[in-house]
Amino acid sequence: MRYARSVADLVGDTPLVQLNRVTDGIAATVLAKVEYLNPGGSAKDRIARRIIDAAERDGLLRPGGTIVEPTSGNTGVGLALVALARGYRMIFVVPDKFAGAKVAVLKAYGAEVVVTETAVAPDDPRSYYGVADRLVREIPGAFKPDQFANPNGPRSHYETTGPEIWRDTGGRVTHVVAAIGTGGTITGTGRYLHEVSGGAVQVVGADPEGSIYSGGPVHGYLVEGVGEDFWPASFDPSVPDRIHRISDAESFAMARRLAREEGLLVGGSSGMAVVAALRTARGLPADAVVVVLLPDHGRGYLDRFYDDDWMRANGFDPDADAPAVTVLEA
Ligand code: PMP
Repeated sequence: MRYARSVADLVGDTPLVQLNRVTDGIAATVLAKVEYLNPGGSAKDRIARRIIDAAERDGLLRPGGTIVEPTSGNTGVGLALVALARGYRMIFVVPDKFAGAKVAVLKAYGAEVVVTETAVAPDDPRSYYGVADRLVREIPGAFKPDQFANPNGPRSHYETTGPEIWRDTGGRVTHVVAAIGTGGTITGTGRYLHEVSGGAVQVVGADPEGSIYSGGPVHGYLVEGVGEDFWPASFDPSVPDRIHRISDAESFAMARRLAREEGLLVGGSSGMAVVAALRTARGLPADAVVVVLLPDHGRGYLDRFYDDDWMRANGFDPDADAPAVTVLEA
């Protein structure tokens, strides 16, 4: 019999698939690593498993313990499915602007969800960070994974994502491209591939216009799960060799093309990463191998950028192809 002992053991070992249509005019091989095939639908399952394993090992999480994290998105799902497999209680603290489908997913996994006010400062005790910290203090045996500071986030990618890419390309990968949110993916994957290749692999980041990582003015943007307005400990900015700054319009247009042309129904950050990957691949020789990570599934965005009316209402052209992007040196 061939089976996993629990759903947590299905995390990782995601496949590479060649992009064939959106790569028109490109000689290099462009391979997408389909992170949405993790059991929770995103790359965040990897950090969830590593963070919980480490917390158990370090005695921070004991049988009957409670996991408390301020998250509304993929990290919550990853933590939920590992917590379920191990029997922990889960409480997620979510700002009210994220109510709706994402909260419904967390509740479906049996998590408790505490909704907090969005319209308060991050250091206000009523903010979602403030409420999460209070719960951790008040609940005996509570553990906060703290994805923006926990070194096990980047470490999970150093130990799994990077080695999988090296193994599955037979060491022929020349470039790796990743969207930057907490920075855990690019830090861990990039560091591993730099080390194993003796510096030969180029590590390329993708960042939304308006985020701090790629410079330029910091402002709001609509692509989810990526970019930041502060520098988290989970991101080592010395790892990427360069970072592309990409607009919402380009990211959404490319995500929609990936669904229609490649059959890959992905989130907006995957579109963003592929825009950066195609910029990287353009002009490279035929023996170059560019690997781009697709962080999450598109099903959570059907009423957003996959919806033509939503696109128009937000000032995007639903019929647009991805235009050119700006390139900044990191
Ligand atoms: N895309 C999505 C949809 C995400 O949720 C995340 C995680 N925040 C990322 C990309 C970026 O991954 P990382 O946090 O490892 O930089």
